[in-house]
Amino acid sequence: MTDPIELTSEPEAEHTAAPQAEAVIDLDAVAHNVRLLCEHAGTAAVMAVVKADAYNHGAVAVARTALAAGARELGVTTISEAVELREAGIEAPILTWLNTSDADYAAAIRSDIEIGVSSAAHLCAVADAARSIGETATVTVKVDTGLNRNGASAHEYPLLINELVKLEAEGVVRLRAIFSHLAHADQPEHPIIDVQRDRFVAAIEVAKQAGLTPELVHLSNSAAALTRPDLAFDMVRPGIAIYGLSPIPERGSMGLRPAMTLRGRVALVKEVAAGEGVSYGHEWVAKRDTYIALLPLGYADGISRALGGRFDVLLGGVRRPSIGRVCMDQVVVDLGPLPPTVREGDHAIFFGPGDAGEPIAQDWADTLGTIHYEVVTGVRGRTARTYSHGPDLA
Ligand SMILES: *Cc1c(COP(=O)(O)O)cnc(C)c1O
Repeated sequence: MTDPIELTSEPEAEHTAAPQAEAVIDLDAVAHNVRLLCEHAGTAAVMAVVKADAYNHGAVAVARTALAAGARELGVTTISEAVELREAGIEAPILTWLNTSDADYAAAIRSDIEIGVSSAAHLCAVADAARSIGETATVTVKVDTGLNRNGASAHEYPLLINELVKLEAEGVVRLRAIFSHLAHADQPEHPIIDVQRDRFVAAIEVAKQAGLTPELVHLSNSAAALTRPDLAFDMVRPGIAIYGLSPIPERGSMGLRPAMTLRGRVALVKEVAAGEGVSYGHEWVAKRDTYIALLPLGYADGISRALGGRFDVLLGGVRRPSIGRVCMDQVVVDLGPLPPTVREGDHAIFFGPGDAGEPIAQDWADTLGTIHYEVVTGVRGRTARTYSHGPDLA
């Protein structure tokens, strides 16, 4: 088991004012989502995918929470992401699956990190590193079954397996698992999914015929973990669902709870007279005397400039529309003509779980023509990350 979770935001030296811009991560929601995924997985294990700093939710905090809630393993992209988790004291199995041949494989081997290989060249580089430090590397073979991105191609796969047989005999490498990644998991009935499953099963068979014995095999991401129990194999690898974002938005929340709330504090409230333009280029002009609030987050903090005039915030219990352009550091919302009850320092929610009527990340994704993955991973700049254990944020 891992240590009990003890997480707070970075302590501020003298000054303890709430951050101006803040991504609040609800770790109870993460735990809930992991438990839900474990139920769906049945007897299969859950590998929590915490790449890209846990989709920008904080890798160490999310990893600890996920493991405490039932996840058994962790998945990341690079060796440095994996090493960060080890250095934080996390002992669960960690798989890294995208590294160039000159990556620091020795560091991974020393930290007992499982290395995903997609070519004989990757594997040979891992073996060289293992020999140089006199240890055995644990590898997982990534096979391309139709995504045509990472993973060994049909041409490469037999070469990789051949090399692996030799290196296992030499004792320099040990095969732990074989895995692949789906191209159409968000369309659970798509025929390509079954084609990929069949190719995956065939690839496992090829490895077994060559005398290899993978401890486990895994295929499913979030969407498949929630909709295709027949593809669970020994383990599922959910990412986005851990963070509470539906892998198939058309199917609603699927019981998941969004973990990230992006909020900012009002920096200024002022009156603007009818006929005055607001923000660069005066794209918005007041039709009547009105009050506006200034919020200290801009495109440098992850509020896409393309959202200008196209999103609301929840402020003072009411949705307030963005007006004018999004600037590097700030945006403006309209409070309307009545003397406002909104005060400097109040919290405006840009997106969150949606429970209090605030927008959700999917709303931004729809407006921007993208996916919520990009919305939550795009939060950056001066935004401070803090953790909460409940949904009461406003
Ligand atoms: C990112 C990733 C996942 C998780 O995908 P989600 O759609 O976020 O669930 C699983 N496996 C691999 C190989 C990945 O790169």
